[in-house]
Amino acid sequence: MKRNETLLNTQLNHDNDDDHFSSSSETPLRPDAFEQDDELKIELISKHFKEIMHILGLDLEDDSLQGTPNRVAKMYVKEVFSGLNPANKPKARLFENKYNYDQMLVEKDITFYSHCEHHFVPIYGKAHVAYFSSGKVIGLSKINRIVQYFSKRPQVQERLTIQIGNELKSILQTEDVAVVMDASHMCVSSRGVNDINSRTGTAFFDGKFKDQEVKREFLNYINTPTPEQ
Ligand SMILES: [Zn+2]
Repeated sequence: MKRNETLLNTQLNHDNDDDHFSSSSETPLRPDAFEQDDELKIELISKHFKEIMHILGLDLEDDSLQGTPNRVAKMYVKEVFSGLNPANKPKARLFENKYNYDQMLVEKDITFYSHCEHHFVPIYGKAHVAYFSSGKVIGLSKINRIVQYFSKRPQVQERLTIQIGNELKSILQTEDVAVVMDASHMCVSSRGVNDINSRTGTAFFDGKFKDQEVKREFLNYINTPTPEQ
């Protein structure tokens, strides 16, 4: 995992081999990942989490701890890792770009919460997204939902950024998509090196956003402070 304020242009890894590119940016899932339904998954995770707590020496008879295994299992399946299941993918409805708006559309400061797949502790921060319409537009809140869907998986930030970028390209039917993510990793801040100040930046620039001028316009916009309300 890259740390500190390193801006990674994830497109550098793009070797124009689409098959290779898409498979390497996919979350590694087993083919039978969804053969068990959510209820069974919650039951099994709860059982195993109880075992972990027991091994740690915790008294599962204690009032305050009794419900924890089930609570954690439900949170994993229904909330923080619900983005693993394609059935939960937001359905994006496209609209005609009636206004013929042909400039960059930017949605910035989208809050996201994810989990580092190496330690299962939170990664959280802001995502900034931009695109040029190819004739279609999507509702703005759909962009937030797409960011959140891919965040709700065990992740590495580089892959998360690419997955959001690729999904927007496919939904919006355009190459002209940019994503910048700025995040804090609790596996860096709350343990290990205990660095509470470092943040990680990742970027995805495709189509028109590979142009330096266009990229600069987007980066300037996301670095402009939000006006006082
Ligand atoms: Zn980690």
